[in-house]
Amino acid sequence: MTSKELRDKLAELKLDIRGSKDILQKRLKMHYKQRKLMKAKVRPPGNTTYDYLIVIDFEATCQENNLNYNHEIIEFPAVLVDCHSREIVDEFHEYCKPVLNPKLTDFCSTLTGITQDVVDSAEEFPAVLARMETWMMKHYLGVDHTFAVVTDGPWDMSRFLQMQCNFSKIPFPCWGKKWINIRKAYSTYYSCKRMNLEEMLINLGLKFEGTQHCGLHDSRNIARIAIQLLKDGCDLVKNEFLHVNQPSQGSRAQGNSIKKSPQDPLKSQEEMVKKLEEMKLESKHFVDENQDLLEYHRLQSS
Ligand code: AMP
Ligand code: MG
Repeated sequence: MTSKELRDKLAELKLDIRGSKDILQKRLKMHYKQRKLMKAKVRPPGNTTYDYLIVIDFEATCQENNLNYNHEIIEFPAVLVDCHSREIVDEFHEYCKPVLNPKLTDFCSTLTGITQDVVDSAEEFPAVLARMETWMMKHYLGVDHTFAVVTDGPWDMSRFLQMQCNFSKIPFPCWGKKWINIRKAYSTYYSCKRMNLEEMLINLGLKFEGTQHCGLHDSRNIARIAIQLLKDGCDLVKNEFLHVNQPSQGSRAQGNSIKKSPQDPLKSQEEMVKKLEEMKLESKHFVDENQDLLEYHRLQSS
C-alpha cells in the first residue's frame, strides 16, 4: 500500500494518520491484530503490563567537551502517564542544589536554561528525591498500582542517578533499577533505526513542544512518544537495568560507594567495552538492541 492508501484506510477507521510510512503500516497492522484478539476474547483493548509510566529526564551539571564530569542532578522532573486512559495525569518538578560544583558553568546554564539563582535556592538532591517518593506514594505507585520508569536512553538511571546517589551517599532507589529505554522500545516496535528524541517525534509526525534540554519539557515529549506507542498497540515493558558499577548490598548500605569486587568477571569499563565490541561483531541483532549501552560504556571508559 502507498502512504496515501494507508492514510485513507486509517482515516476511514478513525485512527491517527500522522507519521512515516513505517509507522502507518505498523498502526494499521496492529489495529487488525487487536481486532482479531478482541474477537477471540484473548486480550481486552488497552491492556498493558503497567498501570502507570513515570517519565524522567534529569538535567545535570556539565562542562563543554568533558565526558568525565562529575554530573550532579539539578532538575528532577517526573511525568505520570496513565496507561489505561493514555494521558498525562500529573507531574512532579523540582530543581536541586549541586554540592561538588555549586557554580553552574555558562555552558550548562545555556544548555539547560537553568540559572544559578534557581539552583542556589533549591534543596539538595536527597530532600528532593524524598519528596518525589512521597509523590509516588500519593499515587499509590508500587502499592495499588504497577508502574515503570521511562527514560530517553540509558543515561538518566545508569549515569546521572547512579552518580548522584554515590555522591549523596544514599542507596540507589529500587524503583530505578529497571526501566524502559524509549529509544529501544521505539526502534524495536516500529522496526526502525535507533533515533533521538526529536527524530522519534518527527517520525511520528509530531513536533517537539517547549524547549529542548529543559528536563520537564523533555519528559513531557518523551511521554507523548510513550502515549503514541501505547495507542499504536505497543505494550511497553522494562528493557534495561542497572548492571555495571553496582555496589553490593553491603557497600550500598554504607553509602553506595562504588567498589570493584575481585570476583567481578568484568573488572573494568575497558573490559566491558571490549566485551561489548566482541559481541557486536558476533550479532547484528546485538548492535540494534545495545547501541545505547555500548555508547554509554564507551563514554564511561573514556
Ligand atoms: P538532555 O536530557 O539531552 O537534556 O541531557 C541531560 C544532561 O546531559 C544535561 O543536563 C547535561 O548535563 C548533559 N549533556 C547533554 N548534552 C550535553 C553536551 N553536549 N555536552 C555536555 N553535557 C551534555
Ligand atoms: Mg533533558
